[in-house]
Amino acid sequence: MSLLEKIKSLAEAYSSQTIEMRRHLHANPELSYQEFNTAKFVSEKLCSFGIEPTVLATTGLVATLHGKNPGKKTIALRADMDALPILEANDVPYKSKNEGVMHACGHDVHTSSLLGTAKILHEIRDQFEGTVRLIFQPGEEKNPGGASYMIRDGALKNPEPASIIGQHVFPLLPVGKIGFREGMYMASADEIYLKVIGKGGHGAAPDLTIDPIVIASHIIIALQQVISRNANPRQPTVLTFGNIIGKGATNIIPDEVNIAGTFRAMNEEWRNNALAKIKKMAESIAEGMGGKCEVNISRGYPYLENNPELTRRIKAAAAEYVGSDNVVDIDITLGAEDFSYYSQVIPASFYRIGTRNEAKGITSYVHTPTFNIDEDALTISTGLMAWMAVKELA
Ligand SMILES: [Zn+2]
Ligand SMILES: [Zn+2]
Repeated sequence: MSLLEKIKSLAEAYSSQTIEMRRHLHANPELSYQEFNTAKFVSEKLCSFGIEPTVLATTGLVATLHGKNPGKKTIALRADMDALPILEANDVPYKSKNEGVMHACGHDVHTSSLLGTAKILHEIRDQFEGTVRLIFQPGEEKNPGGASYMIRDGALKNPEPASIIGQHVFPLLPVGKIGFREGMYMASADEIYLKVIGKGGHGAAPDLTIDPIVIASHIIIALQQVISRNANPRQPTVLTFGNIIGKGATNIIPDEVNIAGTFRAMNEEWRNNALAKIKKMAESIAEGMGGKCEVNISRGYPYLENNPELTRRIKAAAAEYVGSDNVVDIDITLGAEDFSYYSQVIPASFYRIGTRNEAKGITSYVHTPTFNIDEDALTISTGLMAWMAVKELA
């Protein structure tokens, strides 16, 4: 039996166990940076496979899996473990038992899949060369991103892996399909908070006030021109304000207005320029109109660059594993992922695993109360990542 056939048969044989692990994680979700029981579960599973993990970044884990010639080359595989503050609406036997918390982004799938991959790789450890570093990270959904803590605490050291691979469920892609994108793939995401300060008063006597509602309106319109007049039109970027609070009334001008939004970009230099411009424009517009604007920017994840060579190689490995008909190119997205932190350190590639099944009614998007996956995806994802790792190390 070839190694590829061997991996496929192990993925098949472990399939019900992988699904069981996924269902356990799905029923017991934990919020970002609180993944204590999740980490304990992952640790116990790894130990039961014969793999010894180490705790990193409080609720994260790393583990090392040696093949033959372990010093030859090291690569890293990554899964995220946190859930979201969403009340699950699915009526399934493994529905969340932690009310108001839900694995609505498929991190239960990524974690159980990497456990399945670890079990397969452990089983065939005398049939590949080099070392695999398993990274189970906390806090993907919340700034500053668990990946940044994992890197800070040494997840990419001793030795530094030659590359890192990560996957994410994709409800737009039918189960069985795997999506890849070379180069720029996902955006940086920064939170922008503006406090526009004026002077409140009677709605019928605006001459006695400094109206922060009008100032805020000018700022929102003007800042859109940072995108339309300053950004390189060949590079996607977005500025969205989704929240405005001005607690006046029909006849009351309030003292202040608070605005909150998100800024996305695909280029670190532009990101820094744009953030500086946003701050300067907001402050000077408010000042010019007699008020003040306090600008607070919470920097989020950097942009995600899929290393082209690595992506081409794992895509070719995927074509061998699932057939080239099932390997598709996917478009960029202005969504953000903290996997991007790894991509700033070593060659990285983040691919998408199809989880949609219209016939079974599984179509909901991630971050919704009805999100779910076709679990057939897990049988594919475990073996596929093992095959990619083996090929990368060859
Ligand atoms: Zn998410
Ligand atoms: Zn996610």
